[in-house]
Amino acid sequence: MSITRRNFIKYTFAAVAGASVLGHSAVAPAAQKTSGIIMPKKGKRIVVLGGGWGGCTAAKYARMEDPKVEVILIERDPKFISCPISNLVIGGQKTMKDITFTRDKLAKNYGIKIVYTEATALDAVKKTLTTKAGTIEYDKLIVSPGISYDYDAIEGLNNAAAIKKFPAAFKAGAETVALREKLVAMKPGGVVVLAVPPVPYRCPPGPYERASLIANFLKKYKKGSKIIVVDANDDVTSKGPLFKKAWADYYKDILEYIPDAAVTKVDASTGVITTEQGEIKSDVANIIPTMTAGKSAFDLGLMNKPDDKFVRADAYTLESYNFKDVYVIGDATHNGAVGGVPKSGYVANSMGKVAASAAVRTLNGQEPLAPSLINTCYSMVNDDEAIFVAASYKYDDVSKRIISASGGTSPERSVLFGKHAEDWALGIWNDILG
Ligand SMILES: Cc1cc2nc3c(=O)[nH]c(=O)nc-3n(C[C@H](O)[C@H](O)[C@H](O)COP(=O)(O)OP(=O)(O)OC[C@H]3O[C@@H](n4cnc5c(N)ncnc54)[C@H](O)[C@@H]3O)c2cc1C
Repeated sequence: MSITRRNFIKYTFAAVAGASVLGHSAVAPAAQKTSGIIMPKKGKRIVVLGGGWGGCTAAKYARMEDPKVEVILIERDPKFISCPISNLVIGGQKTMKDITFTRDKLAKNYGIKIVYTEATALDAVKKTLTTKAGTIEYDKLIVSPGISYDYDAIEGLNNAAAIKKFPAAFKAGAETVALREKLVAMKPGGVVVLAVPPVPYRCPPGPYERASLIANFLKKYKKGSKIIVVDANDDVTSKGPLFKKAWADYYKDILEYIPDAAVTKVDASTGVITTEQGEIKSDVANIIPTMTAGKSAFDLGLMNKPDDKFVRADAYTLESYNFKDVYVIGDATHNGAVGGVPKSGYVANSMGKVAASAAVRTLNGQEPLAPSLINTCYSMVNDDEAIFVAASYKYDDVSKRIISASGGTSPERSVLFGKHAEDWALGIWNDILG
């Protein structure tokens, strides 16, 4: 049975104890002190915090720009698990193995020293980053801490039982597996709820791609089931007409989309999801909470204004408003300061190159170059077909922000774009980690 907007209301409904270091001149874990300066600085040094999409790119491109500059990458998780393509793990087309990588080539091919530990504090005057493995000196620091979930924004969500019951899976890893397992275990005829958070959030088309792939899974393996997409926004935030056409063509009686339906409350014991438009009794619910910059950005004192949720950085160099020689990149950046770029892996990758170049050049007494960024984001709508959005961005001297230079969406979905989606992932993973 289809749930329309009108009758909708009728329905009741991570810490690292030790640390390890990889790379040339690696410091063995046993030799590390738990406090005080480790790996004393001998020459020019860039430290990168966060070994995800932005951070790995920045570390690699800093070494490519000037191999004489020492680069140390700080990351808490020894595995690199890609968010892009993780929706296909949830949809059953890919496995976790397909999206899980090491950072070994960064150490081996580029001489990047990788310290697997957690950063806890920044002293921008002394130019040191404190980690659980000890304190590390820097000349330039590039920070790419990703996002955190604001569990408090939804009543009943900020507790272990609710987080386990309603996995967000917007940081690829255990939650991706948990959501997939819940879908596989669900009985035919079940109701899946997918909650889209308010903008700005990481990967604008991500929730809609996921909804499409879950609908595809339900259509094939869970007869009589449906997915209800409750969106905190007033419309699909990316590639709207293309997603809606695919939903109408393939998932008419399976996927229902409800805009202006922010989740206000969840109940882990009953599975009832309360939205601004009513309640839904879910069998499986993927609640994607409101997002902020990664917690580390707050802990390190990078927020510029009391209510800021993302980090303000200069659009030209990505140097933070708060601290000289500290650059902020990726999803953690504030769109009001940087400009209208999506929070995507491709943009984080571009920003990594911009910040690495600016940091190395200024370290060597050169002027930074004008930034240029690109974004292409593919979304699979079933096993084979994809749609995409693409744009290039440049610095605008008048607004002093990054603005779109050109862009658009694919005219239609196609199998060819589906193949391109996979090729894009292989290419950019290699650019980041290879
Ligand atoms: C389902 C899904 C699909 C997506 N699909 C696409 C896509 O098709 N195309 C696209 O371009 N983008 C896509 N994205 C978005 C993309 O994943 C993000 O934009 C990208 O990961 C942002 O990179 P980042 O460096 O800012 O953050 P991340 O990649 O999250 O990296 C942050 C890193 O910092 C580390 N870290 C944080 N704090 C500390 C600390 N204190 N100490 C040590 N380490 C720390 C974390 O462990 C993490 O490894 C998708 C996202 C999702 C969730």
